[in-house]
Amino acid sequence: MYYKAREKALNNGRVYHLAAILRRKGRVIRVGINTHKTHPRFTRTYPDGSIASHMHAEMSVLRFAQPGDTLEVMRFKKCDHTYAMAKPCEHCMRFIREFGISHVRYTNYNGEWEALQP
Ligand SMILES: [Zn+2]
Repeated sequence: MYYKAREKALNNGRVYHLAAILRRKGRVIRVGINTHKTHPRFTRTYPDGSIASHMHAEMSVLRFAQPGDTLEVMRFKKCDHTYAMAKPCEHCMRFIREFGISHVRYTNYNGEWEALQP
């Protein structure tokens, strides 16, 4: 599953290659990557009035989430495909809480998995 997530993320045509996996009772529900696409529900308006034209990997799977689900977020380096920092940003965290995600795991600077309590 991580292999599939990596393939998708590395081919997203963006500078950063992130993937998010939504799990329910250990089963994979959805794999998402960061893209240019927007989702009407997840637009982000910045203080200067501009609206974000991209979607974080977390956001692309959250609309399939149910309370109690687990979210795994990983970032891949283009050079050697190893993990990099993928801690969800505050904006995503708001939605993660709103959707009732109970466990979040992400890859850190050392390429290791870290857990966080939403
Ligand atoms: Zn985010």
